[in-house]
Amino acid sequence: MSDWENNVRKAVPYIPGEQPKSTGVIKLNTNENPYPPSPAATAALEAFNTDEMRLYPAPDASQLVDAIAETYGVKSSQVFVGVGSDDVIAMAFMTFFNSDRPVLFPDITYSFYDVWADIYRIPYEQIPLTEDFRIRPEDYIRPNGGIIFPNPNAPTGVLESVETIKKIVESNPSSVVIIDEAYIDFGGTSVLPLTEKYDNLLVVQTFSKSRSMAGMRIGYAIGSEKLIKYMNDVKFSVNSYTMNRVTIACGAAAVRDRTCLEQTCAKIITTREAAKKELAQRGFTFPDSMSNFIFARPRNIPAKTVFEKLRLRNIFVRHWDKPVIGDYLRITIGTDEEMQALYRALDEILQEG
Ligand code: PMP
Repeated sequence: MSDWENNVRKAVPYIPGEQPKSTGVIKLNTNENPYPPSPAATAALEAFNTDEMRLYPAPDASQLVDAIAETYGVKSSQVFVGVGSDDVIAMAFMTFFNSDRPVLFPDITYSFYDVWADIYRIPYEQIPLTEDFRIRPEDYIRPNGGIIFPNPNAPTGVLESVETIKKIVESNPSSVVIIDEAYIDFGGTSVLPLTEKYDNLLVVQTFSKSRSMAGMRIGYAIGSEKLIKYMNDVKFSVNSYTMNRVTIACGAAAVRDRTCLEQTCAKIITTREAAKKELAQRGFTFPDSMSNFIFARPRNIPAKTVFEKLRLRNIFVRHWDKPVIGDYLRITIGTDEEMQALYRALDEILQEG
């Protein structure tokens, strides 16, 4: 090892789901939306004047921030935007989690949280979920330096009630509580209204899932003006121009299209409910999902084998080679046609044994 390597910030990076280069793949591995984004986004893209590329974007991305604020009935000073919710959450970790006490999150959850905690040298404690993958609010009533979890949780898809979250927020006035609502539009109830009452609650959402815009990278946080001001101070101390002009224009147009959002989510929910029946018929067990994926455990055959055999058939799902979750596959809800192809492939694989 060279001497200078002693001074390198060493990291074990997050591993995103595979993005296959080949076409003709059925991609059910990264919780993308199989339907197109709002036509308003397409129109905004077509109207985009490339001469604008010469110019820096607005550092406060106000066009996008205002559109989000208007959509959710909050002030623009209560909205923070970033390059996907990954960027937003990373900023939130840097801004709010600076205590010697551990940040708390579930042991089975979004696998980026411990990566951010490690890179920012934040102590953390992973709280075991119950046997049926639920969060016990009592477990989050102990000294801590902050709390974060997704609702619905990932990769389980399990939704916690507004009451559960309210109890956790109410019991932790000395910490910032971040609820990562990446999948909330697929049937859950957002805790956004609670941000009016609790100035330590930050709600994070994304355009990547319900708004079919993962490729544009737009995430946002809504919270008290105080929280958002602190986040912006940190953001403007790292990189002022995170949101590019095309993204700002397309995002601002898309977020106002509630009809597209609702129709797309309704289709995915219908397909998901049908998928629950199809998978159960094939012996899979799973916690009840309120997201755009199902965390399913095959019977009598290792999840890894199913994963590999699906992959050979050009159907990509997600599998983690880790204890407990290694018994499961996370299957993103695709179109009805894609799901039919999945069921046919599963029938073949299960027959082969
Ligand atoms: N939170 C959770 C729980 C997720 O599953 C994801 C998607 N990987 C994200 C946040 C980040 O999504 P994005 O950066 O695309 O908004």
